[in-house]
Amino acid sequence: MSSVILRGGTVVDPIGGSGVRDLAVRDGRIVAPRAGERYDREIDAAGCVVMAGGIDLHTHIGGGKVNLARLLMAEDHRQGVEPIVLPGNALELASCGTCAPGTLATGYRYVEMGYTAAFEPAMVPSNARHAHMEMGDVPVLDHGAYVMLGSDELFLELLAQGGPDLKNFDQIRDYTAWTINASKAMGVKVVNPGGISAFKFNQRKLDVNEPHVHWQVTPRQVVHALARALKELGVPHPLHIHGSNLGVPGNIRSTLETIEALEGLPAHLTHIQFHAYGTEGPKKFSSAALQLAEAVNANPQISIDVGQIMFGQTVTASGDTMRQFAQSGLANPRKWVGADIELMAGCGVVPFRYREQSFVNALQWVIGLEIFLLVKNPWQVVLTTDHPNGGPFTSYPHLIRLLMDRPFREEQLAKLHPEVAANCALKSITRELTLEEIAILTRAAPAKLLGLPDRGQLGVGAAADIAVYREKADRESMFRTPEWVFKDGVLVAQAGRVTATPVGGTHFVEPGYDPIIEKTLRRHWQDRAAIAFDNVAITHDELCSCCNGGRLLPAACFSGDAA
Ligand SMILES: [Zn+2]
Ligand SMILES: [Zn+2]
Repeated sequence: MSSVILRGGTVVDPIGGSGVRDLAVRDGRIVAPRAGERYDREIDAAGCVVMAGGIDLHTHIGGGKVNLARLLMAEDHRQGVEPIVLPGNALELASCGTCAPGTLATGYRYVEMGYTAAFEPAMVPSNARHAHMEMGDVPVLDHGAYVMLGSDELFLELLAQGGPDLKNFDQIRDYTAWTINASKAMGVKVVNPGGISAFKFNQRKLDVNEPHVHWQVTPRQVVHALARALKELGVPHPLHIHGSNLGVPGNIRSTLETIEALEGLPAHLTHIQFHAYGTEGPKKFSSAALQLAEAVNANPQISIDVGQIMFGQTVTASGDTMRQFAQSGLANPRKWVGADIELMAGCGVVPFRYREQSFVNALQWVIGLEIFLLVKNPWQVVLTTDHPNGGPFTSYPHLIRLLMDRPFREEQLAKLHPEVAANCALKSITRELTLEEIAILTRAAPAKLLGLPDRGQLGVGAAADIAVYREKADRESMFRTPEWVFKDGVLVAQAGRVTATPVGGTHFVEPGYDPIIEKTLRRHWQDRAAIAFDNVAITHDELCSCCNGGRLLPAACFSGDAA
């Protein structure tokens, strides 16, 4: 392996320590620089900001609905894209697409911005192989996924059997652990808790304390049981919650009730912008960013990612069939897909165009930015657009500028629907995020929330995933095109050109469980599923070959094993 020294850069690293210093890399890891030592590559990083590689903790890059989105959005793949030419003229296949990019384009575009890891948030257990294969086909990036539970029939059946004091909690915990192991997941995501199933029983909405018509359990019970299971299993990433009533005016109530339902258990509330709406004003649609931020500020065990919306064409792809069905009338272009496999969850893919002159879209844009700027502790916030739901991930540099540059923010705000531009609280928020805070939102906090101690930072021993940005006043241009990007010490992009495409690794966790649960599961799969139970679980060898021979990166669980 090779060695590199980056000399004189301004390291911005909220974990390992910031300041002007040399950064040395040997065999893919950060090492202490030593005077007189020779390095294979020497880089003058003076005038540059050096950060750990970016980590996207919530981006839809693999699995069934991503593929359906590609299929549905043929027009997104119409423009020709130049193939990437690697040194030595080794030609990589061209790949295209913006809101539903192909696997190769996904890797290239992330790496060109200095990101080195990305996590798929909605992997259905029965579709886990496909999700891993797709992510394994994404070059360079390390990846992982959260498996979906909480609207699957077995979970709801167990929850209903448990009664009010959940006397079978051990079974639910073991089922959760088994599913994580079998699907090689990094965590668990619950989507519209219980609601995707309720939709199949013809319920068209489900509030946090409202019972599912068939199973007679509430979203409150679903969220609490799953959050408790993950806590007891020691899974580092807490329950990843896509709450009830996504996109519905007044849903701040559901969001606050969900936080209450957790009773102090840790959780990550995802794409929270879509869950922070009030009903004030003449249009009965208002920002509840302040209420949301107050709740986050008061609950340090809660983290969020924003799901900022960006203007332009995108496609929304969600496991939330209930809400996507409700939104399907707004599809632009007018087409959509809803699907389910094995009664495990669901999905809806609805193309959408966010417009500056739409009152609702303008307010959504404002609400996202207000949340970013009103939550006090940056360690509780992760920068996302919920790619592609709020907008494609390629808009991150623009979003970073909006957060760091108030005059630029004002300029953009002035272009929006006049009622929103004139009346929003955002107008009076003066906060501009610092480079240190951006480093937290885009690498250090996600690494911490995922339980990856050697990522998201540049201390000695950390993985040499590094992005070197030329310091510029225009933060969009600065974060758009880093001068150099390294993945595990290998130069993978230089001045916006991909230079190498090593295979990324797979992050997952393996919590312990009592194997007695397999009796229940075997019966369930035999009676109700199309796939034989013995073929469900993915082994290490299979995961490795699924993922293009990439490294397996199991993350440690906290408190040890339940089994
Ligand atoms: Zn979601
Ligand atoms: Zn999402």
